[in-house]
Amino acid sequence: MESLKTYIPNIPEVEKKRIVVVGGGFAGLKFVRKSLCRDFQVVMLDRNNYHQFQPLLYQVATAGLEPSSISFPLRKVFQTEKHIHYRMGEVFEVFPEEKELSTSLGYLKYDYLVLAMGADTNFFGQTNIQQNALTLKSASDAILIRNTILENFEAGLMQTSPDKLFEYLTVVLVGGGPTGVELSGALAEMKKYIFPKDYPELDLSKMRIILYEASPNLLSGMSANASRLAKYYLERLGIEVKLSTSVVDYDGQTVKLSDGTQIATKTMIWAAGVKANAIKGLSATHYGRGNRIVVDRENRIAGYKYIFAIGDLCIMSTPRYPNGHPQVAQVAIQQANKLAKNIHKIARNEEAEQFRYIDKGSMATVGRNLAVADLPGLRLRGFIAWFLWGFVHLISIVGVKNKLFIFLNWSWNYFTYDQSLRVLIKPKIRYKPIIPPSETT
Ligand SMILES: Cc1cc2nc3c(=O)[nH]c(=O)nc-3n(C[C@H](O)[C@H](O)[C@H](O)COP(=O)(O)OP(=O)(O)OC[C@H]3O[C@@H](n4cnc5c(N)ncnc54)[C@H](O)[C@@H]3O)c2cc1C
Repeated sequence: MESLKTYIPNIPEVEKKRIVVVGGGFAGLKFVRKSLCRDFQVVMLDRNNYHQFQPLLYQVATAGLEPSSISFPLRKVFQTEKHIHYRMGEVFEVFPEEKELSTSLGYLKYDYLVLAMGADTNFFGQTNIQQNALTLKSASDAILIRNTILENFEAGLMQTSPDKLFEYLTVVLVGGGPTGVELSGALAEMKKYIFPKDYPELDLSKMRIILYEASPNLLSGMSANASRLAKYYLERLGIEVKLSTSVVDYDGQTVKLSDGTQIATKTMIWAAGVKANAIKGLSATHYGRGNRIVVDRENRIAGYKYIFAIGDLCIMSTPRYPNGHPQVAQVAIQQANKLAKNIHKIARNEEAEQFRYIDKGSMATVGRNLAVADLPGLRLRGFIAWFLWGFVHLISIVGVKNKLFIFLNWSWNYFTYDQSLRVLIKPKIRYKPIIPPSETT
């Protein structure tokens, strides 16, 4: 009987071996750019047609940057590389025996498969929170946060009771990692510099920014000193930081805490954890903590000679990191670099090199002139850390135009204490009339 399988059309069958890369994030994109595998045919699949720089999403959410400044079209990256074929589509399942994938575009054969699908928000099974909270994993999430906050301020102007005003203006953030810390710091700056000018009729003392963290420390991946200082900086900016406090429910109106306390708010942002994006076709034994795919020191999935996983998606145990590496951009980039080198060796049946993570340090910014940076042998705080944070992020962004736009935006914001991106762009709004329209018109 003839096979009913439809394969993705128009990808030429060539003599060269085919590498399929799933995901154009830090790991997938670096792998393709670094290996520039002219000895292979490369097919990259991503459900988005752009690469995004997640570390600056919080600035899109707080109207500091346009989404286009932190995104880069994947097709532009590969314009001059004829052996690289990009397709926008979602990958569903891998069939290792057949060496093929099923995708939203059809089936696709591979000789080597590199999985780099990253991670998504983890709600730890709390469906109410999943349905009602905002998250920050993509540009559309960031725009939704921006729109929600601006809409709530517009609605705040219509409130006549102070309690109701609290609900509209209060923002609750859950998770004291870099995302929660950076986002709450940026919101505090909006409260101080922007909202008083935009909303002089609103009583901004009714705006609370509350950051909840279940563990006893903020920025748990950093030093104890950085953690303490981040809390001090945030509190200086007026943020209520509540450590060792878990959020257990949110119905869109009321946040419930583990100690029974309730906070009324229209805005809760969940940044309390991630779980790796799964793919069907692997067995349960291939998954480790946080749904991450277990790989060996060559980023190979156990039992499959030609399937690799890199970046946030995978977990690799090493003597220094027995529970896996942190899910950060540097790990994704370094694993991609190593695999890009190894893939040629593997194709030549030579021994591949083992991955060893070089920790270049971690940084988090809290607000204007305020940041913490733990670098190897050096701890920076305050303005110097903040300046370094800006420099490192600027040089890491893909694309000269993006670098320039971000630099100009930052400079403008820094000197004018203003951001100009507080526009509510969304599908056509249909306002309901308060007075029904006359039937004669
Ligand atoms: C808000 C935020 C702030 C952060 N801040 C920092 C920071 O300051 N410093 C730092 O080092 N790290 C930071 N990180 C973490 C960092 O962004 C990740 O470690 C990094 O992006 C991991 O790279 P990756 O390539 O593994 O995954 P990603 O960059 O997430 O890329 C995954 C790609 O796979 C695609 N994809 C997923 N599933 C499929 C599918 N089924 N089919 C097709 N395509 C798919 C996605 O569209 C995406 O393009 C932050 C993350 C977030 C969310």
